[in-house]
Amino acid sequence: MKMELRKNFQFEAAHLLPNLPTNHKCRRLHGHSFTVELVVAGECDPTFGWVMDYAAISEAFKPLWEALDHRYLNEIPGLENPTSENVAAWIWGHLQPRLPLLKEVVVAETCTARCVYRGE
Ligand SMILES: [Zn+2]
Repeated sequence: MKMELRKNFQFEAAHLLPNLPTNHKCRRLHGHSFTVELVVAGECDPTFGWVMDYAAISEAFKPLWEALDHRYLNEIPGLENPTSENVAAWIWGHLQPRLPLLKEVVVAETCTARCVYRGE
C-alpha cells in the first residue's frame, strides 16, 4: 500500500531578487510569511500503519527551518537569488539526503503563488 504524507511548515524571512530591473517591486527589500509543504511517499508499514513518523519529517527539516526563519535569505550561501524556485531547490538539496522518501518540496511566498520542486 503506497501512500503519501504532506507536512506544512512556515517561516518568516526577508529577501530581494537582485537580478530583476530596479523598477520591479521584487527588486526592493521585502518580506514574506513563507510556507513550505514537504511531501514524502512510500510503502505504508503494515505493523506501524504509517509511511513514517511525521515527527521525523519535522526533525529532518528543523536545521533548515532554523537557517531560514527570521533571516535575510540573500545572505544564505546558495540563496543569493532567493526566488521561490531557488528556495525550493535549496531545501531539496539539503533535505533529500536526510529524508530519502522526500518526493516534493512546495514553497509559497503568498497565499496565491507557490512553486513545486521534485528534484529533477
Ligand atoms: Zn518576494
